[in-house]
Amino acid sequence: SPSQGYYTRRGGVGESGDFITSPEISQVFGELIGIWYISEWMAMGKPSTFQLVELGPGRGTLTEDILRVFQQLASVLSKCDVSVHLVEVSPKLSEIQAVMLTGGKVQPSPEDESAYMKGISKTGIPIFWYRDIQDVPPGYSFYLAHEFFDALPIHKFQRTEKGWREVLVDIDPEVPDQLRFVLSPSRTPATQNFIQPEETRDHVEVCPEAGVIVQRLASRIEKDGGAALVTDYGHDGTKTDTFRGFRNHKLHDVLSAPGTADLTADVDFSYLRKMAQGKTATLGPIKQREFLKNMGIDLRLQVLLQNSGDTATREQLLHSYDMLMNPEKMGDCFNFFALLPHQRLAHPDKKDKPKSKSPLPPVAGFNELLLK
Ligand code: SAH
Repeated sequence: SPSQGYYTRRGGVGESGDFITSPEISQVFGELIGIWYISEWMAMGKPSTFQLVELGPGRGTLTEDILRVFQQLASVLSKCDVSVHLVEVSPKLSEIQAVMLTGGKVQPSPEDESAYMKGISKTGIPIFWYRDIQDVPPGYSFYLAHEFFDALPIHKFQRTEKGWREVLVDIDPEVPDQLRFVLSPSRTPATQNFIQPEETRDHVEVCPEAGVIVQRLASRIEKDGGAALVTDYGHDGTKTDTFRGFRNHKLHDVLSAPGTADLTADVDFSYLRKMAQGKTATLGPIKQREFLKNMGIDLRLQVLLQNSGDTATREQLLHSYDMLMNPEKMGDCFNFFALLPHQRLAHPDKKDKPKSKSPLPPVAGFNELLLK
């Protein structure tokens, strides 16, 4: 809801908010993602310009960490024209992002421009803000969606003896100011449109908005080039009932006090893959701990530990590594998934043919990182 929705009113990412995310836990997370983009940019022949497009940037921490890597590797990127494009609906969070990334030096854009705000990053890179991915100008782009798709609204369905029914939210007639779940008495437009014919589960959650956004990303990558990295907690079409609420880092009844808690549902990566409609290749989902290991998190941790003099910093580094990598914490339930142009991946038919002069390097993260 543009007026009463959680993200437009509250949107509490971070330690003092309702939920904590990987970039808020450790700078290493964003740094390794920054290296992923550089490694893909190199593998794709170092195009002379690219846009970094982030969907739902939260506090802007991830982009800040990525831009620091771009700054550190400025000699590699020296001839490349980089710009940052943030898709954000929350006025409050876009202000926080502006302070984080530009030190608050932003200006609103004129009505006729597609961006609603613009500024220059502390490292000198132009940054633009939009409300919708469709407003981002076309062009060679690297997309990023971290804990974005899980925040979008879902439909819930249940298989009954009479066929599929939609789970709807109703006002409880018995208790004032109380909502309740009900089953639709008959089929709804959503049951007819959003359930896959081959579905075997009895309870299903579908996020059509995520499907539409992935279709757009896939079309844009097919047409203009680039790649998308999607990272979220989720499953590959196996889970059934994951819709839940968080407030002040505690589970919160999804039906109580609407608009005041973060509502979330696991991302169904099998649905995202279908929605790419073969316009791009897809990789993953792969578990967060495997992706980060492939990206060299262990080496990065060692360097940081060696460079930190005090015990408290070392303990903090080890603690945040454990949060990100431990299978019982974020290591197993978070996944990485990528959309890439077909030509980026070697075609299976070509496997047995003689190797070309410069074989395509494997995609980092999904394989070990090989930086030359
Ligand atoms: N990526 C950040 C924040 C995740 S929270 C992190 O990992 O820390 C979800 C983000 O998506 C918030 O910035 C929220 O304001 C934004 N958001 C939610 N719904 C959106 C929508 N429909 N369009 C654009 N942004 C949205």
